[in-house]
Amino acid sequence: MDKKFIAGVDIGGTWVRVAICTADLNEKNIKKRITATLKENEYSISNSVCQILTELLSENSITKGQILGIGIATAGPLNIEKGEVFNNANLGFRVIPLKEPIKEKFPEIPIYFINDCNGSVLGVHFFEANDGEKDNLVYITMSTGVGGGVICNGHLLLGKEGNAAEIGHALVEPKSKAQCNCGAHGCWEAYSSGTGVRNRALNALQEGKLNAGILMSIVEKDKSRITAKEVFQAAREGDELSKKIVNDCVFYTKIGIGIVNNYYDCTSIYFGGAMMKDKEQIIPQICKQFEIDPIKFTTNHPPKIKLTKYKDEIGLRGALALVKYKIENNSIISKLKQK
Ligand SMILES: [Zn+2]
Repeated sequence: MDKKFIAGVDIGGTWVRVAICTADLNEKNIKKRITATLKENEYSISNSVCQILTELLSENSITKGQILGIGIATAGPLNIEKGEVFNNANLGFRVIPLKEPIKEKFPEIPIYFINDCNGSVLGVHFFEANDGEKDNLVYITMSTGVGGGVICNGHLLLGKEGNAAEIGHALVEPKSKAQCNCGAHGCWEAYSSGTGVRNRALNALQEGKLNAGILMSIVEKDKSRITAKEVFQAAREGDELSKKIVNDCVFYTKIGIGIVNNYYDCTSIYFGGAMMKDKEQIIPQICKQFEIDPIKFTTNHPPKIKLTKYKDEIGLRGALALVKYKIENNSIISKLKQK
């Protein structure tokens, strides 16, 4: 009965994932659950986390006293000390308190926070990176936005509040008209995220300079049905406008990776996120560029380009790894000051 467990939570704009696992993080012992992200009020998310966690514990006959810690990876921006999300465009409230309401239900258990991409790089670090790449490792998500997590010289980079490595807002085209989710123009995310691809396709349609017959037939002439998925499909089928948008998505990703590699000199970059459903149109071109002619994009030796095999689950795995590393006093997160 004195067996110990770790709890992990991953909070995104669409889904909340909760898991418990034995303290060794043997993946055979991960029990997990997923639920839609509720946005009724600022306590909806913490309420569903508490409810699911309580259910998972009782179904597996685990007591609160057996939980060593709760790791919470969440979409940011995040204040990791206060345990609250602020100014998040997708979660719906200016401030979303997480630590206090969860602490109320689980008072004896330490709770640790991390932003989702920083969490994901910890997930890659624990569950799939090899020893040769662990110390200089980057995770990049291409999804609704573009985000990253960086381990450099064996340390997770956090910044003053835990929001370091907001790489998607690297300005890759300063005079651009493409507006980013953050409000600025010309961010990497404005070209290479799902939202960016969709918005740019709609703007190009409006301009009407390129042929988009294939794209329009895929969406049966209903522009509102266009998402990144349809643009990538149309590009595969030879649509002129869509090919241009996909080429730009890949081109600016090369620029983004170049910046990341020049700043952090990483051994490997792991990609994840919903855009990886169309990875065949993104990853091989990047690999080829960095194998054959990296110097146009990065002055440092190029990194290995890989994909996380855990897809949507990498953030949740990172939340579990966060607690394990905290308990072990692992030097990778020695700068993470949370009680
Ligand atoms: Zn931006």
